[in-house]
Amino acid sequence: MIKVVKFGGSSVANAAQFAKVKNIVLSDPARQFVVASACGKESKEDHKVTDLLYLCEAHIRYGVSYEPIFAEVEAKYSKIKEDLGLALDLDKEFSMIRSQMKKGISTDYLVSRGEYLTCRLLAEYLGYDFVDAADVIAFGYDGSIDMEKTASLLQQHCNGKGIVVPGFYGAMPNGAIRVMSRGGSDVTGAVLANVLDADVYENWTDVSGFYVADPRIVANPVRIPRITYNELREMSYMGANVLHDDAVFPVKSKNIPINIRNTNEPENPGTMIMEDCSKQDQLDPPHRITGITGRKGFTVITLVKSHSSAEVGYLRKVLSVFEDYRVSIECVPITVDTFSIIVNTEAVDSCLYDIVGRLKEELKPDSLKIDERVSLVAVVGRAMKEQPGMSGKLLSEFGYNHINIKTISQTADELSVVVGVMDRDFEKAIQCIYDKFIKEERGNKG
Ligand code: ASP
Repeated sequence: MIKVVKFGGSSVANAAQFAKVKNIVLSDPARQFVVASACGKESKEDHKVTDLLYLCEAHIRYGVSYEPIFAEVEAKYSKIKEDLGLALDLDKEFSMIRSQMKKGISTDYLVSRGEYLTCRLLAEYLGYDFVDAADVIAFGYDGSIDMEKTASLLQQHCNGKGIVVPGFYGAMPNGAIRVMSRGGSDVTGAVLANVLDADVYENWTDVSGFYVADPRIVANPVRIPRITYNELREMSYMGANVLHDDAVFPVKSKNIPINIRNTNEPENPGTMIMEDCSKQDQLDPPHRITGITGRKGFTVITLVKSHSSAEVGYLRKVLSVFEDYRVSIECVPITVDTFSIIVNTEAVDSCLYDIVGRLKEELKPDSLKIDERVSLVAVVGRAMKEQPGMSGKLLSEFGYNHINIKTISQTADELSVVVGVMDRDFEKAIQCIYDKFIKEERGNKG
């Protein structure tokens, strides 16, 4: 059994968190491959190390002293080292970074030092080997990760002992450090799981997996025990974010499950993300709805033109106007002769009136209407498929709760129904769907 285990910033924020990580790792001999982030916040007022390092870089760029900020980073690591009684020569590490900063440091190198230092300390604390991500995570010149090269480098650097690899960065073919996008340690873990053919990729964070709804909206929502990769994709796209988007692809391609776990509550089984949940679903049937999520801040542009539904190429012409302004489209609900184009309000901030002008000029609609402050609520669930009446029940719930529906869309895979409501009804919409489909079902189960 091979487990790749990744710990996020909050799991390594201080010595007490390091101790929890050690208990988790050493309690299971399969946990031989550890990835960690830079130290996260210890409290709300605290700062993430990666943010501090980006701030140092900005200070260097503007010629302002970075000393007080870098001193915060030093203090954080020195305290962890001291509290855990470790021997790593941190002064040497800090003076190396300082001398690079004086000479002109690359941003990627500087901001990667958080993960590097966390993992140096963690490796010593666990009694595992430290393997630098620069030596094993290989980027190609196009910026994508070269999986074959990564696999072979990893083989060369493993000698049968547990290893700790920093997340978030790797090296370009010329050896220069390159960082991923923010939250990229999730991707490092997924890449290692892929090249090692792991049985499971455990992603340890500060929540016990995914919840059916956002706990800031629904009080004490139930945990989702299992979710498919496709459901997860829908959920994350619509606003639920626990995992970096790019972390799914490397494991999905090899059918490796991801287990989201909570470092502060290790006995909780968390959420299992899998390609196919059908076997487990037979033993323990899921709710009809896996999750309810969504986002505020959309703009809906509705065009009405008689007989346009019969006009070949009409929709393409509408969409190409948005393409010209490089605006990505979220959803296109259509009825006879009426098209609504839903876009993120921020994306059309500076070009909405230009787009409208072009649509009027080129498409000559009978009418064109703009609705702002629209939210999209996505109801996601593999168990909704081929359930006659499911969308009807969903939509009538909005009616009972006096929530006006602006738009509705569902694709033929029946994995999600996306409903547009006004921003002011967003929270109420999520709560009422939760009450109807989760609370009521659980009540009926007794
Ligand atoms: N430390 C990086 C960040 O804050 C990467 C990570 O935590 O995954 O984005």
